[in-house]
Amino acid sequence: MGNKETIEQTEKYVTKTYGRYPVAFVKGAGARLTDADGEEYLDFLAGIAVCNLGHSHPRIVEAIKQQADNLIHTSNLFHIGPQAELAELLVDNSFADRVFFCNSGAEANEAAIKLVRKFFSDKGQERFQIISMEQSFHGRTMAAMAATGQDKVHKGFKPLLEKFVYVPFGSVDAVREAIGETTAAVLIEPIQGEGGVNMPPVEYMMELRALCDEKGVLLIFDEVQTGAGRTGKLFAYEHYGIEPDVMTLAKGLAGGVPIGAMLATEEVAATFGPGSHGSTFGGNFLSSAAGVAAVRTILEDGVLENCVKVGEYLTGKLNELKADYDFITEVRGKGLIMGMAMTIKGADIVSECLEKGLIINCAAETVLRFLPPLIITEADVDEMIGILRPVLDEYKSPETS
Ligand SMILES: *Cc1c(COP(=O)(O)O)cnc(C)c1O
Repeated sequence: MGNKETIEQTEKYVTKTYGRYPVAFVKGAGARLTDADGEEYLDFLAGIAVCNLGHSHPRIVEAIKQQADNLIHTSNLFHIGPQAELAELLVDNSFADRVFFCNSGAEANEAAIKLVRKFFSDKGQERFQIISMEQSFHGRTMAAMAATGQDKVHKGFKPLLEKFVYVPFGSVDAVREAIGETTAAVLIEPIQGEGGVNMPPVEYMMELRALCDEKGVLLIFDEVQTGAGRTGKLFAYEHYGIEPDVMTLAKGLAGGVPIGAMLATEEVAATFGPGSHGSTFGGNFLSSAAGVAAVRTILEDGVLENCVKVGEYLTGKLNELKADYDFITEVRGKGLIMGMAMTIKGADIVSECLEKGLIINCAAETVLRFLPPLIITEADVDEMIGILRPVLDEYKSPETS
C-alpha cells in the first residue's frame, strides 16, 4: 500500500476529527521518517513532543519487546513491577512523592483536577474553582477542555464543567484578583505549547508560587508537553527554582507508547484512597516498561545535554532567520521546544516544508513550532534550515508579507 490507499481508507472509515496532511508514514529511525511511497522526511515535530528519543530508539524497542514477551497487562487490582519502578524513578527525580498513572495528557489533567477538588473536600473546605490561563491547552476531555483557555476548543460543547476561570498568561495581578474563597488551584503550563510557545518570565513563576502559598491554593503544572526532557531538564519547572504541588505528564514519557501520569506531594496525593480514582490501562506493564526505558535513557544517555546544546544552536539559527526576514518577530523557547513568531500565517509554510521533506508545525496560527527529537544533531538543524529558508523566501515579497 502507498500513501493513497491509507488516505482513502482513513477518509472512508475514520472520524474526521483531524485535519491531516496527505502522508502516511510507515517507518522511522531517529529523526527520519519514511512514507508509504518511499519518500524520506526530517522530523522536527517528533509526534508533537512524543518521540523525544527519536523514532524506534533501540532502548525503547528492546524494552517493549522484552515486556511483550513476558506480560502485557494484568490489572491495577495487582501489583505491577514496571509501574512501581517508573513511579520510583519519577519520584526520585522530581518534587513529587507519589504518582498516579493513566493513558494521556487529558486524563492526567482530569486526575489532577479531581485530586485538588477532593483534597479540599476532605478538609471540609468548599474550594473547587480552578484558575487557568488564556491560550492554555490541557486536553479534550470535559474537565481538561473546561480548563483550556481557548474558545475554539469549547465551541459546540457547552455547557462546560463549572468553576474554571481564565486569566492572562504572565500576570500575577490577574491571578491575585481571580483568587477567591472557593479557589482550589492554579493550573499552568510552564511553557505554553499549543498556545504558541509562550514563555512566562521567571519572576512571574516565582511570584505565582508565593501567591499560591499565601492564599492556601495548590499549584498544578501541566508538563504534558514540556516534561520528559523537552526543555533540557527532565521537567521544565526546574528552570524556575520553584516546585508545584501537582504535575501532569504524558507525551514524551514512554517514547511513543500511550501513557499519562499525575505526580503530587504526599500531602496532596494522600487524598486519593482506594476507590477515589482509577484507570484500567493506567501504568500497565507495556507502557510502564517503555516509560522506564524512556526516562532512564533521557537521564543516562546525555540526552538532556544534547537537548541544551542543540537547542542553543537551533536558537542561534532561528535568530539568523529573524534577522533576514522582517515577518519574523520573535524567537522563543527553551531546549528543543522552540517557537518562531511571525506576522503571517504559518499553515502554508508547514505544508510547503512537508512537500520538501521537512516536518514542522504551526501553533496559534502564526508561530512556527519546532519540537524535534532530543537526539538531533547540529547537522540536522542545518539541514532543516536549508529546507526552511527557500520556503520563507517566497514570503519575502511585499504583497504576501
Ligand atoms: C498535548 C497536551 C495535552 C493533552 O494531551 P493528550 O494526550 O492529547 O490528552 C494536555 N496538556 C498539554 C500542555 C499538552 O501539550
